[in-house]
Amino acid sequence: ELKIAPSIKDDFDDDELLACAENLENVPPEILEKPKKTKERPNNPLFKYRRGVLSVSDLSAQIWCEQQLLYKFLYPFVLNDDGEIKRVDDKPHMLRGTSLHLERELEIQIKISIECKTREDSYGVRLLNMIQGINGILTWDKPNERYITREMPIFGNMYGGKLYFRGIIDEINYDPRTNQLEVVEFKTRASKTPPKPQQTYTHEVQVNIYRTLLDELIQGRVDKSLYFERYNLEPTTPLCDSVRNEYNERGFSNVDTLENAFDLLTKLAFQMPTITTNGAIEYILQTDATWKHRKEFHRDEHHLEQLLLKSEPFWLGTREPEGVDIEDAYKCNWCDYSDICQWREEKANEFARKKQRLN
Ligand code: SF4
Repeated sequence: ELKIAPSIKDDFDDDELLACAENLENVPPEILEKPKKTKERPNNPLFKYRRGVLSVSDLSAQIWCEQQLLYKFLYPFVLNDDGEIKRVDDKPHMLRGTSLHLERELEIQIKISIECKTREDSYGVRLLNMIQGINGILTWDKPNERYITREMPIFGNMYGGKLYFRGIIDEINYDPRTNQLEVVEFKTRASKTPPKPQQTYTHEVQVNIYRTLLDELIQGRVDKSLYFERYNLEPTTPLCDSVRNEYNERGFSNVDTLENAFDLLTKLAFQMPTITTNGAIEYILQTDATWKHRKEFHRDEHHLEQLLLKSEPFWLGTREPEGVDIEDAYKCNWCDYSDICQWREEKANEFARKKQRLN
């Protein structure tokens, strides 16, 4: 299977930088002076830091500590032990994780670059990656072998909610013998010790989100106009020649606009033989990719819905961020923001006052 990477640079980073510019020094003037978008957007964390679309890992980070997530938006750069300025998420083990993901993807797919001229072209390529993955399942002709696709983009607003998500599904397996579809999340580990329940919990939530997003796509429960509105895309802009040719060469004719691509995707997804049946996380050792620990689990729809109900008000700006509960205070020990954390300070003061009263 051929995997395609858009060659256009995402412009998310500049806006992200602009959102936290007041906490930074030396922000390049061209970013500060960037013309404001004409569209009025709500002034809440969802639009201020994420332009209306959350990544699935934003929700995992929120589950870990909401206060920490907000600090990452406000102060994305920290000094490391050698005194160098680093992006807070650029930890060596994270970079290793990224390269292992790529190695795994390249085991079954080839990456090629396609010249894109507009954001619509770039999103046209993303949709093509989804179309290819789904079409691969629909046209699979080996009844005794599983079909596997990796790194498939996904998006949607689960259960018709106000939050909109984007993500990349590490692996989708289809087994024609059992008609089962499985979503697999791939995580790396620094040691062979099994992950802590708190870690596996956030990973399970991530897989459950991917399963729900994929199922809603298969069931035709995606809102086309909301997709174009949240990504701020123009559905009828003609795609450039190179993107249109790519669709043609893969047997998808008459795709001239992003809207055509979106309609093709939903049409194919609707023909899928099944919705997702299984979910799994595969833990792989960073230093030895042959060591694997696999965890399979059932979906808990009710829990996911409750979680979204709790998360939504923070993103919509209707409640303040919350830090960790006292039983999770161990997380503060390796948090980059523990020295400035107001939540931690307030909790410590509360605890001291309680102690005083008891004495
Ligand atoms: Fe969250 Fe603790 Fe970090 Fe504060 S110090 S941001 S409560 S993990």
